[in-house]
Amino acid sequence: MQTIPIHKHIQLYRESYARIVKSAITGTDLSEEMHTERRKKIQNWNSNANLDHCHALVETILSQKDFMPDPNAYQLVRSKRAPIPLQPEYFKKTIPKKASVAIMDLFGTSPLHGLIAEVFKNSVFAPGDSRYRSDYKDGVMIICGADDNVFIALASLLHELGHCLVERLSGADFSRRQVISEAYAQILEEIVVCQYLASEQDRLAWCSYQREIDHLNYYFCLLELSQTRSFSYLTRHINADFFDSSLLLLRQTFFTDIGYQSVYAEASLIRQKVLNKFFHHEKL
Ligand SMILES: [Zn+2]
Repeated sequence: MQTIPIHKHIQLYRESYARIVKSAITGTDLSEEMHTERRKKIQNWNSNANLDHCHALVETILSQKDFMPDPNAYQLVRSKRAPIPLQPEYFKKTIPKKASVAIMDLFGTSPLHGLIAEVFKNSVFAPGDSRYRSDYKDGVMIICGADDNVFIALASLLHELGHCLVERLSGADFSRRQVISEAYAQILEEIVVCQYLASEQDRLAWCSYQREIDHLNYYFCLLELSQTRSFSYLTRHINADFFDSSLLLLRQTFFTDIGYQSVYAEASLIRQKVLNKFFHHEKL
């Protein structure tokens, strides 16, 4: 079978996202080809990162009390479990203002206000674009997605804003940029949304949703590493069929950025540590 080179996968995600989603749901040849190509890449993956660092990360994840995803906490697509946690009820509810305006209000007189305005001004907001992401325009990181007046837009823009702020506030190059950027994006999103939500019940639902995101990040880190030669022993620790295999396609970086799942997992560990230690997270 002819396989698609990795750059083609990235191109497909950029240009034909709808086709990818359809393939994930219906399990077409495209989905099979993507999996075949990914398996080849991951088998031969030779961590550029320090292997000792990866081993230490795995040990930390395995020592967490409950690192596995909750089987009942995920969306079902055609009765199959998808790697997308069930969202709090208010996710699709409208909010009084467009997400970017609501965020500007939340930052009020903060010194970051001007920088945030600049990020939003340069971002590419398109109605109906529900795939929130950060990208580069003229060499500067910006946000792509829909700037709607719904809760999910608020949370998603905050996350991507976190990536853009790290990019602007840090030096041109520093080690572990990806982990720090992801951790900052997660922390900013969780804390600011907590500030925004008025009811205790909504805040609790939000925080437990975020903990499931952490579990998902740990799971994908272990799954990805278990498929490499150095970490094959990890197959004992996880259920590789926990999610439907076609629907794994919905986890974009699992296909486009080999080795990236450890970045998410490490960021989640940092977030949990920061929130527990400094912000008494459970009382937020
Ligand atoms: Zn992110």
